[in-house]
Amino acid sequence: MILHSHLDTNEQGHLTIGGMDTVELAREFGTPAYVMDESVVRANFRTYLTAARTHFGENALPAFASKALCFTEIYRIAAEEGLGIDCVSGGELYTAKRAGFPAERIYFHGNNKTDADLRQALDMGVGTIVVDNTDELKALDAIAQELGRVQRILLRITPGIDPHTHRAISTGNVDSKFGNAIVTGGAMTITKMALSLPGVHLAGFHCHVGSQIFEISPFRDAADIMVRYLADVKRETGFVTEELNLGGGLGVRYTEHDAHVDYAKSIADIATVVREKVRAADIKMPRVILEPGRSLVAAAGITLYTVGSVKEIPGFKNYISVDGGMPDNPRYALYQSEYTALIANRAAEPADYRATVAGRCCESGDLIGEDMPIQHAQRGDILAVLSTGAYNYSMASNYNRLPRPPVVMIKEGAARVVVRRESFEDLVRNDL
Ligand SMILES: *Cc1c(COP(=O)(O)O)cnc(C)c1O
Repeated sequence: MILHSHLDTNEQGHLTIGGMDTVELAREFGTPAYVMDESVVRANFRTYLTAARTHFGENALPAFASKALCFTEIYRIAAEEGLGIDCVSGGELYTAKRAGFPAERIYFHGNNKTDADLRQALDMGVGTIVVDNTDELKALDAIAQELGRVQRILLRITPGIDPHTHRAISTGNVDSKFGNAIVTGGAMTITKMALSLPGVHLAGFHCHVGSQIFEISPFRDAADIMVRYLADVKRETGFVTEELNLGGGLGVRYTEHDAHVDYAKSIADIATVVREKVRAADIKMPRVILEPGRSLVAAAGITLYTVGSVKEIPGFKNYISVDGGMPDNPRYALYQSEYTALIANRAAEPADYRATVAGRCCESGDLIGEDMPIQHAQRGDILAVLSTGAYNYSMASNYNRLPRPPVVMIKEGAARVVVRRESFEDLVRNDL
């Protein structure tokens, strides 16, 4: 096992994913390429669904935060597995519709939905719109009334949690661009407004505290604050919350330094806290929605590149340059995210070399990682970066006019392309 249980080496010393040789996959599909193990994705979907139902009750639902990974086939898989989805744009909604995803299980998010977005969501029959602010609430109410509809909504609440310090800081994150803070009174104002508008049906509340969280305490704090808010709302308005959406954010293993997260246990722990707080506040247990993105798909994916050069600058550093980079994985450039990289055709050898893995773009910051432990490399080797299933393909760009890589899904020893590699023709398609 290398980092995750579906990654290993074979007799040739090559990296394998789901038992398939990555060097062969690179030969067959070319590089750069995203490769995803579908059985890992499905297993994660099932873990969340089973744990949510077991611990929160049969009506609980995990909604896949599809900004982490968006293409038609992933929505088909989420639909088959019985999950909901969270969409954040007209493009994601359009893709979900194309996949035949059941609209009633869609949660539509975003801090600045346009009128066109709202109309599209209503046209599609999106089950729930998570309203971010009072301007949006008024616009939605007007559009819904015009169409003779009553749209089910949740309100996005900012509980005021700083997930990095793992402490409830009552003012922390109040300055977020998302949602309505409890401490400023903004949450209660929008709640009362929602209850007064005929074009919307308020079902409950949503919060999302952050991402890549390894501890339970931020979720515990969020649950505590949100449940107390539900009790306040009931006291002040009489409104009984039907649904509480606790967002996503559980962490994923990018390197050996990251812990293994037991998602089922984390969900059980969060459920224990929610039940405890609901009991203490003497309110009705709401239906609970979870909204994981990263933890459902990140570990399932890897990216395969071909090494183009190895440059040693004596006394400074070594560079390994690959045929992709920030256009297919902008996360290091954006927030210095750590990754594990290895030479796939020498994966069984010790990682006793150190190199900065660089992309091919005309930017010094175009890096996959700095001073990474890795095997010795040479031009023509296949370099694999692990845990790239989330926020890689979905964040990819065409910078330097590089075509986006394909997404190859593997399942039970067979590989299929679920997103084609872009061609140069694709790049100029909209040029006039
Ligand atoms: C990004 C996001 C998620 C998913 O977060 P992960 O860290 O990928 O689990 C869930 N809900 C909302 C509203 C988000 O913005």
